[in-house]
Amino acid sequence: MSNLEAHPDEVELQHDRREGLTLLEPREVPLGGPRAMLVRRTLPHREIRTIGAWCFVDHFGPTHAPSHAVGMHVPPHPHIGLQTVTWLLDGDVAHRDSVGSRQLVHPGELNVMTAGRGIAHSEDSLGPADDGLHGVQLWTALPDGERHQSPHFEHHGDLPVLTAAGVRATVFVGSLDGARSAAAAYSPLLGVEFVLAEGARSTLPLDADFEHGVLAVEGEPVVAGVRVAPSSLLHLPVGRRELAIEGPGRFLLLGGTPFGEDLLMWWNFVARDHDEIARARQDWEAGRGFGHVDHPAGPLAAPALPTTRLKARGNRRR
Ligand code: MN
Repeated sequence: MSNLEAHPDEVELQHDRREGLTLLEPREVPLGGPRAMLVRRTLPHREIRTIGAWCFVDHFGPTHAPSHAVGMHVPPHPHIGLQTVTWLLDGDVAHRDSVGSRQLVHPGELNVMTAGRGIAHSEDSLGPADDGLHGVQLWTALPDGERHQSPHFEHHGDLPVLTAAGVRATVFVGSLDGARSAAAAYSPLLGVEFVLAEGARSTLPLDADFEHGVLAVEGEPVVAGVRVAPSSLLHLPVGRRELAIEGPGRFLLLGGTPFGEDLLMWWNFVARDHDEIARARQDWEAGRGFGHVDHPAGPLAAPALPTTRLKARGNRRR
């Protein structure tokens, strides 16, 4: 994905002070490219910028509605300092990158791209524009000791699945209840998709050192007693040992230890200071350092830097 959003909207928060729960409502933003698809974004949020290392949450589709029937077509664009994590519920997306990867991703499979010091990629949905496309793209911030590593790409087509009465859970990052994803993670992280049938109820064990987020993608699951509407993200602070869930609905459970480093996110870059962002932008515009993506569309141009210096910020509003 390519992030075009210059000024995240100031979205109202709903707090449940008894349990420290916060419901983040999505805002609609266009993705990069000449035929921009609208996505619903919940992270970064003005108040809660990260959940563990998860620093970016976009929910897109389903694209059957005519207003969304443009599909996903994001020409080559750069990333530094992050991983992109692509999870589909419907449709197929073709990924190409500058380390030579060409990979289709289908529902139930995972594409993870670790940008490290720099990579470029493109993403295109297949089939007619009004075909079903429904999914989520997430970014994780790489910790300082990992963010200068060489870029690489992983596809995981066979992820561990846990089942119970009316509940199906696919672990795509980290581990839950003994089921572990083979996807590379560079800080303690969790990513699980839950599908709950009508009337299904369960209580999940949680790592109390993690904060968590629940992103509803279908239906309105009830989580920790809160009904979560599609595209909304319920934040659960550290210290929680279990989580009551109730169907019907489908959601992603994201978790991790609170990210302790200040981050500077601008366009498609996750860095630590203004000069680093300016350098990455300059390199991309000069065709340096990110490699080449074999794609019929030309590369996306970087937006102009703001006239003021960008500042890194902590994971919570201070
Ligand atoms: Mn991208």
